[in-house]
Amino acid sequence: MENISSETACPTCHASTSVTENFCSQCGTKLKEPPLSTSTARQIFIYLISFIFAPLGLIYAFKYLKQSNPKARRIGITVIILTILAIALMIWVTKAFTNWQYQLIDTF
Ligand SMILES: [Zn+2]
Repeated sequence: MENISSETACPTCHASTSVTENFCSQCGTKLKEPPLSTSTARQIFIYLISFIFAPLGLIYAFKYLKQSNPKARRIGITVIILTILAIALMIWVTKAFTNWQYQLIDTF
């Protein structure tokens, strides 16, 4: 018996396409977004970006949160937490540095 669920129709030209395909082979219509990588190397890269370049990581966070894969969504949530931590750390360092400078001025 043939597995019907592996075949789907293109919304533009109604040609039957495979669910594994991201684009229609007949007209080239985008059928679905290719899944984002959830590999360890990719995760480390994204986490580093979101921590070092704090608000930039949110671009990845929203991309990953839109995925249906729960692992990808977890990456998105982790990126948001890391971004908040990085910003909090940045504020704390800036405050500590400013206080230190004021203390220097006071001693002279
Ligand atoms: Zn098509």
